[in-house]
Amino acid sequence: MMKFDIITIFPKILDSYLQESIIGRAIERKIIKVKKWDLRDFSVLRHAKIDDRPYGGGPGMVIQVDPIYKAIRKITSRDKGKIRIILFSPRGKKLNDKMISRLAKYDRLVLISGRYEGVDERVAKYIADESISIGDYVLSGGELPAMVLIEAVSRSIPGVLGKLESLETIKGSYPVYTRPEIFVSREGKKWRVPRVLLEGNHDKIQKWRDKYDNSYTIRKTKKYKLN
Ligand code: SAH
Repeated sequence: MMKFDIITIFPKILDSYLQESIIGRAIERKIIKVKKWDLRDFSVLRHAKIDDRPYGGGPGMVIQVDPIYKAIRKITSRDKGKIRIILFSPRGKKLNDKMISRLAKYDRLVLISGRYEGVDERVAKYIADESISIGDYVLSGGELPAMVLIEAVSRSIPGVLGKLESLETIKGSYPVYTRPEIFVSREGKKWRVPRVLLEGNHDKIQKWRDKYDNSYTIRKTKKYKLN
């Protein structure tokens, strides 16, 4: 069983996502385990305070080292498995397919989700094994990045995907179509399914699918504006 731990100040916002669909089923079947840790439980300050003002000035608040340090100690003590501690940061290494396969080899991933102006940099320097970004934009917190990572890593664990879902790498990702063969828009435009998919020649279909990789799909996709 692969374990994920998420350290966050908003543990509840993860609940429904973890209960449904593929992730929910993987947890139910005990293929993965996801534990949420409320950072405020590790505060020793009044009102369970976990943040303070930034040195050098500037807006907002910064999450402090101390509660994260205590949480990590609690989570990792007495676990002899292969553990990786990950901090989410927009300045981290950008998540990709290769990193996902590498991370899937650990027994346990401990995920630190920041909020506000971020996390005291000493967490990145001295506590986390690596910092990961899920893309070049800034989110309000590390909870969605944690879900992205858990979902992507879980998909590569045997038994998580059922017969009906397929594991594809970014290279093996191709466009899909389903009925109807011709969709007619309100303006009478006909949107067709590529003929090769309807002809039943599996070699040709495979070739057609192989020529798509992610970059190709993004370049070629034409957006249709509704209204
Ligand atoms: N000013 C901060 C950004 C804080 S955003 C900085 O430059 O680091 C608040 C938190 O959201 C971050 O601590 C991080 O955990 C998370 N976050 C925001 N954008 C992210 C991204 N692109 N990838 C991963 N985590 C992100």
